Amino acid sequence: MMASVFENFQPLAAIATTPTGAQILQPLCQTTGATLWVPNSLSTLEQVAVYKGSLKDHIASLWPNHRALVFCLAAGAVVRLIAPLLTDKSSDPAVVVVDQGGGFVISLCSGHQGGADQLTRLIASQLDSTPILTGAAADLGLPGVDVLGIPFGWYRGEGDWTRVSAVVARGEIVQVIQEAGSTLWQAHLRDGHPFYFGFPDNRATTESESISPKARIWISATQQQFSPESDLANVQWYPRVLWLGIGCERGTSKQLIEMAIRQTCEGYGLSENAIAGIATIDLKADEVGIVQLCQERHWPLRTFPAEVLRSVTVPNPSDVVAAEVGTPSVAEAAALYSAQELKVSKLFANVGQKPMLPEQPLLVPKQIVKSANQVGAVTVAIAQSPVEYTGRLGKLLLVGIGPGNLDQITPAAKTAISSADAVIGYSLYINLITSLRRPGQIIEALPITQESQRAKRAIELAEWGLTVAVVSSGDCGIYGMAGLVLEELRSRGWDGKTPQVQVFPGITALQAAASRVGAPLMHDFCAISLSDLLTPWPVIEKRLEASAAADFVTALYNPRSRNRTEQIAIAQRIFLKHRKPDTPVAIVVSAYREDEKITLTTLDKMLEIPIDMLTMVLIGNQSTDIHQDWMITPRGYRIEG
Ligand code: SAH
Repeated sequence: MMASVFENFQPLAAIATTPTGAQILQPLCQTTGATLWVPNSLSTLEQVAVYKGSLKDHIASLWPNHRALVFCLAAGAVVRLIAPLLTDKSSDPAVVVVDQGGGFVISLCSGHQGGADQLTRLIASQLDSTPILTGAAADLGLPGVDVLGIPFGWYRGEGDWTRVSAVVARGEIVQVIQEAGSTLWQAHLRDGHPFYFGFPDNRATTESESISPKARIWISATQQQFSPESDLANVQWYPRVLWLGIGCERGTSKQLIEMAIRQTCEGYGLSENAIAGIATIDLKADEVGIVQLCQERHWPLRTFPAEVLRSVTVPNPSDVVAAEVGTPSVAEAAALYSAQELKVSKLFANVGQKPMLPEQPLLVPKQIVKSANQVGAVTVAIAQSPVEYTGRLGKLLLVGIGPGNLDQITPAAKTAISSADAVIGYSLYINLITSLRRPGQIIEALPITQESQRAKRAIELAEWGLTVAVVSSGDCGIYGMAGLVLEELRSRGWDGKTPQVQVFPGITALQAAASRVGAPLMHDFCAISLSDLLTPWPVIEKRLEASAAADFVTALYNPRSRNRTEQIAIAQRIFLKHRKPDTPVAIVVSAYREDEKITLTTLDKMLEIPIDMLTMVLIGNQSTDIHQDWMITPRGYRIEG
């Protein structure tokens, strides 16, 4: 089930040479579906693959076709094995080493671009061990310069990446010139980060005069020309913001369309790496040249009916085109329409971030390109979208983080949280998981009252392409966010697949509270929330009646709030009708949190104990008993009297 968290690292291979090593890596291989390679001497182990010949030759054969290699072997041995194979940090697989005791996971090679740092974090949280990241960015609490655009699907362009990363590592000022794409990453940098957003040269304030950057990051659709002599180290990211509106004569060749795009981009100083996709009229959905080109370049092809295109105001409408296809513009209208299709306001509202809005979205008015030796003609127009096309399928990870301190979270839930591009939840829970966050993650904490906004926000980010973890306390599927997110998806006509959803269970409050007092839930039990915010009170009362009459051990969630004080008293009266006054009741406040408070009492006296919104009330059944400080419900069905 966790396999998809590791999806970005497939194909992944694991290598162990000792029985202990194999045992340590086995759970990882089970969740990821990775092959566990062992030498002939370990061939009797289950679920392993045996390599023949030398390990060195075997690693050489795995190297070119794997995204990640995980070793349980001495780090020195791994270094010797991979040394002859290393070529380039942008193409080498991620190499991770787990120590023979299983206590440490080391990101050895291709930490940033190969993702070894991220894989190390995921494996460490799965094995419950310590991740060892030796790169500067990890230590600085900053996203790596060479990976910060990955969540948004940006294309990593030219420049001196090593030099710019070194400037960041030294904590020297790095100027960021962002003209396109999401600025969400800017809002989640730690205090005192070295990035400077703006143009020191053009501003005459004393503050900005003192700023002299040592490196520069361009985030733009424009092709920059970096001079090798420059004192400043430069790099470029290309957010995919350019929508190409294309019109063409029937049968125009792919080559001519490609040439038209290249010429137009060059003429306007735009980079083809910033192309989001192609937009055109629906009549062209089967135009072979366009379709082939989109397949080759992994560009989405968006097509619109004439009625839609007709509604877009364009600078260069044409009567001839209107007479032919029913809209006065294809290229300009399709480019503009596509560029504005994603609802920017939705993605950026409520986080105080402004989108990068081009002054004039139509960067290139329609150009007609022909060639003497090619059939057909192509019209190209280019518009810039304020929101980039990520080219990624988003995911929603619905995660329960347990009742309180992090000992009570499952390794799977931890892994899910650290794999996410964005984490969304109620502020209190976001604070509880601070230690799981990784630099560069987008963290959005919203007040407790805004559950449905939280669900909507998570879905928007996931529909855009991000992996979003939505955290709930306890179990996310028990009075938690899982239901809200799935309901909201259903109301949007979700196909059940995209965005992909995964639910990660957690220890719910009733289990947490029960574990602190003994074994009160040993027999049939029932959970009832006393909150009538989303459920009418008569329904709750009916359930209390039924549970009391049927002798269920009963766990009351949301027993009382500042404004809701009557419900718990009514609940007590209902139970007193069916159970003895001395029925044991446990009142557990903030189980597994710092201010935990546990009281054992009886049904008739329970209201004397303070009960609030952080309290779990467990009412015993007829046979529940207190022995010393322990609440015990017998396992058997023998009922006295
Ligand atoms: N999804 C959560 C429940 C959310 S409803 C879960 O599975 O636990 C919120 C209610 O849960 C609170 O009003 C309180 O009754 C209970 N609760 C949550 N955490 C608790 C804790 N640590 N100790 C006691 N009760 C808790």
